[in-house]
Amino acid sequence: MTNRKPSLTGFQKESNGELWLWDDLPQLHMEAGYKVEALLHYERSAYQEISIVETKGFGRMFVLDGTPQVTTKDGFVYNEMITHIPMVTHPAPRRIAMIGGGDCGPASVAMKYDTVEQVEVVEIDERVIEVCKVWMPNAAAVASDNRVQMTYADGYRWIQGRKKAFDVLLIDRSDPYGPAVSLYKPAFYQYVHDSLTNDGVVVIQSGSPCYNGNSLRNTVRSLKRIFPIVRTYLCCIPSFPGGIWSFTLASKQYDPLIADLSRLRTEDAKYMTPELLRSCFVLPRYVQDLLSE
Ligand code: SAM
Repeated sequence: MTNRKPSLTGFQKESNGELWLWDDLPQLHMEAGYKVEALLHYERSAYQEISIVETKGFGRMFVLDGTPQVTTKDGFVYNEMITHIPMVTHPAPRRIAMIGGGDCGPASVAMKYDTVEQVEVVEIDERVIEVCKVWMPNAAAVASDNRVQMTYADGYRWIQGRKKAFDVLLIDRSDPYGPAVSLYKPAFYQYVHDSLTNDGVVVIQSGSPCYNGNSLRNTVRSLKRIFPIVRTYLCCIPSFPGGIWSFTLASKQYDPLIADLSRLRTEDAKYMTPELLRSCFVLPRYVQDLLSE
């Protein structure tokens, strides 16, 4: 793109008046562009730039530092994939925690399971939750549920004070820069292990196998040193550059490959089915090779 005059990270007004959001992907030597119909909210918090935009292709989008986090058009894929799989892998999850709140979509899926007594949402940036409550679909309802506790803290520090506290942990971390860097430190995975009950399960957003391969491999390697069961699975999230996205589940006792799928609470799901849950662990050869390097 020529005549680039960025005023906010990633946003560019074209000479024809159109506003675009450009997500820079130096690993691929490309940028992904999203046509913006309206910039609804922008602020610079103590941690990051927070934007909410109405896009032409993906509906309402929550953006941090110029990187799309979730959209109303395809956020259901991410929310269902990060949440349903650990929630059925553990046979009776009661105490849930989630690091990385954002719009709280995964928490809203977890609360569909009637064994759930408590969901602690740990978000470093209180402004993110306040902005999402106003502009995005899930945060306000989640925050007002009496099973939910909102904690504003750095997940890396917070988790060190939690021992055998959670049946299921969802690590909905941003990409490895800015405030999320600590959530990629090797020590973090040991703290995650120690915060889980003796049969606890964690799922971690582990990035694009296509352009974040090193990060995915390091995550899996670190988890394998600590947990007996580690399973990476994939889905397609159209608004994320490259489309294909990974999550990695680590478990002390239960294997998702033999989970009791009659417990799935997918009555109003748009992505997850029992067949999909079984098949998402089948990895393409290049991902298998990446993980065995
Ligand atoms: N899927 C989410 C949604 O539905 O909005 C997007 C969550 S976004 C990937 C990750 C969130 O983690 C952001 O809201 C960011 O502020 C938060 N975060 C980043 N670093 C953190 C940290 N060290 N501790 C806790 N939260 C953190």
